[in-house]
Amino acid sequence: MLYVSTRGGGDLVSSAHAIYNGLAPDGGLFVPQSFPAFSLEEILAMHGQPYAVTAVQVLQRFLTDYSEEELMECALAAYSEEKFGKDPVMLQKVAGNADILELWHGPTMAFKDMALQILPHLMTRAREKTGEEGRIVILTATSGDTGKAALEGFADVPGTEVIVFYPEDGVSPVQKLQMTTQTGRNTKVFGIEGDFDDAQRGVKEIFHDRGLAERLRRFGWTLSSANSINWGRLVPQIVYYFKAYSDAVATQRIKPGEGVLFSVPTGNFGDILAGYYARKMGLPVKKFICASNTNNVLTDFINTGKYDRNRPLHKTLSPSMDILVSSNLERLLFDLTGGKGPQVAEWMEALNSEGAYQVPATVLEDIRYLFYASWADEQETLDTIGSAYNDFQYVLDPHTAVAWHALAKYRLVSSDESYGIVLSTASPYKFSQSVLEGLNKAGLVTGDSPFAAAHALHEVTELPLPAQITKLEQLPVLHKDIIAPQDMAAAILATLDIRD
Ligand SMILES: *Cc1c(COP(=O)(O)O)cnc(C)c1O
Repeated sequence: MLYVSTRGGGDLVSSAHAIYNGLAPDGGLFVPQSFPAFSLEEILAMHGQPYAVTAVQVLQRFLTDYSEEELMECALAAYSEEKFGKDPVMLQKVAGNADILELWHGPTMAFKDMALQILPHLMTRAREKTGEEGRIVILTATSGDTGKAALEGFADVPGTEVIVFYPEDGVSPVQKLQMTTQTGRNTKVFGIEGDFDDAQRGVKEIFHDRGLAERLRRFGWTLSSANSINWGRLVPQIVYYFKAYSDAVATQRIKPGEGVLFSVPTGNFGDILAGYYARKMGLPVKKFICASNTNNVLTDFINTGKYDRNRPLHKTLSPSMDILVSSNLERLLFDLTGGKGPQVAEWMEALNSEGAYQVPATVLEDIRYLFYASWADEQETLDTIGSAYNDFQYVLDPHTAVAWHALAKYRLVSSDESYGIVLSTASPYKFSQSVLEGLNKAGLVTGDSPFAAAHALHEVTELPLPAQITKLEQLPVLHKDIIAPQDMAAAILATLDIRD
């Protein structure tokens, strides 16, 4: 399997090359030249087998320059019981016609672990395969969860350095502490005076800075990315769509072959795109529900065909979705235009220079055939947390609440009562204060300690308090640097001790 750039430039490359480099040289994203297929029988047989086995079945069809044995080593190391407990992902029966797919049982309590626990293993092997000798510096802009998951995945991995930039005031208190208490000889965390888009733009500019790349190279460093622009982030996310479907059939929630709904809380469009790829590979999906918070750029895009980031970025209760530029949409557009790289490049240039682009009616029609988009404002998010608890005794985190709300909206406008799976992307304990507010119990805590809120949430719901939270309470803050966005490159050079 070879990979091309979504902007049509450059050569075909191997999967190891795509994973090692992260971004294509023309600024595009790597995508596979074709998609493998699974038969319904193959999908149904996934139920009941260890998660690592399913992961290898999917990964080996894409990462053809890795041996099955290598992939199994990567998957077993990533999805171990020590890291994820017994079942890395769990389909929880909640309502009559909807279940919740819990994806947050990994070390950092967010779904990002599903990919970021395996990416370091894929990447260190990619280095061997591409014959590179240098060390890798992983740059990550984060809206809260990617940063911690990348730090946790890459900490003390030989030959790597991981540098994370987060918006100083744009993440939850637990998210911030998770990052600033990170240990590991090769980890570095910077707060940015700005929002997530400032951080993401800064990282993209650094990737496009050839002079800087050359300078790093002289000192033996290659830049790569742990953001979902990296193909090695996306493939592992395809796995749990198959797993969820096979579980839903096995538990008789649906008949074999029946088309289902997936509602996905969306920011950078990575998670939902992985589902779209799973459907391309044969998974019976009727509709994807693209759920946004007040930063509803994607809702507008899917409703009108115009992508327009010229609007203020709002800080919301679901900070991991506070994004105006959803990078992975580029991969969807490439696919829906039948691989028209120059056309995609034109749109992305317009997005860069004018902050907007418009796709033609034919492309919009294809998008709307498969995707329904909706959003929840802050009050709707809180109300959804409250009503899901009252109706089903299920505790939603704010991101999952946005997706639960969007599924309800979809049913309302479409009268489609098909079975739906809502992807749950974070533990409620990552956002205890907001969840308590949704449950109308915010009065139980005074002050703004996230730990007092977590303990109160535990009292109210009896949901087991994760060990990660009780441990976090004891850890010293190790990373205190706050920098301006324009100083990101200098911060990287200083971290790597490059001074000429
Ligand atoms: C990253 C994240 C999302 C959004 O996922 P994308 O792949 O960026 O669309 C949603 N919820 C949580 C909790 C996240 O961490």
